[in-house]
Formats: sequence, C-alpha cells, structure tokens
Amino acid sequence: MQYNEEIDSVKCLECGNNIKYGRSDKKFCCEGCKNKFNNRRKSVMIRLQSRVIHSLDKNYQILDKLLRSGADSVMLPDALQWGFNPEYMTSCTRSRMRTIYRCYDIKYCKSDTRLFNISRIPSAPVADKRSQ
Ligand SMILES: [Zn+2]
Repeated sequence: MQYNEEIDSVKCLECGNNIKYGRSDKKFCCEGCKNKFNNRRKSVMIRLQSRVIHSLDKNYQILDKLLRSGADSVMLPDALQWGFNPEYMTSCTRSRMRTIYRCYDIKYCKSDTRLFNISRIPSAPVADKRSQ
C-alpha cells in the first residue's frame, strides 16, 4: 500500500499548509496561524452579537415608546417601517391560545397584521439575570 500524504498529514486551519510534526490533534502550523484564526473567529462572533443586540435594542425602543404613549398595540407594517425586526426576541412562550414574545421586560403578542397586548413585565427573569 502506498503512503498517502493527504490522509496521513493534517492541514493548518489557517494557511492550509501540512502540519508534519507535533501531536495528531494539532490544528495549526504555528502560533501566528492559531492567533490569526482565533482573532478572525472572535471578530465574526462580535459582529454577529452586536447585530443581534442592535436589533433587540431597536425592538425595545419601539415597544417602550408605544407603552409610554399609552398604546398597547400597533399595526405590524408600521412597526416594521420603524425598524422593528420580529425575528429577534429575548424569549417566547407558547400557550394553548397564543405565543407570548418578550423583549427584555416588555411582552407582546403577534399576529400577521399586528403587535398587541404589549405590556411591561414588573420583574422579568431576563431582566433579573442582567442585573445580577
Ligand atoms: Zn498555518
């Protein structure tokens, strides 16, 4: 049987060079490649996290503004136009009747056309966790 370098050697996850020495679970050819790879992965994660946090904050601003103005419902197209993104919530609870969504300490229900039953939760578990 012939020696097959493709199978017997591991490629560096950063530069793709073969790793010819060291432990078999080694993933990088050098410290530089390891740092480069991890830093890039970290910055992708930070960008993703800040996008999610930004969307949650935007949703919260909109819901909070509605509550402060005395409203407990809004037409969904209006909310979408203000920048509400229904994909982001901090939790959702499904009951037999409907699904209750939460954005930090504000809860709401959603239909195809409206956000409704918008109200503030006095001490939401999510809010408690954040303040600990
Ligand atoms: Zn490398």
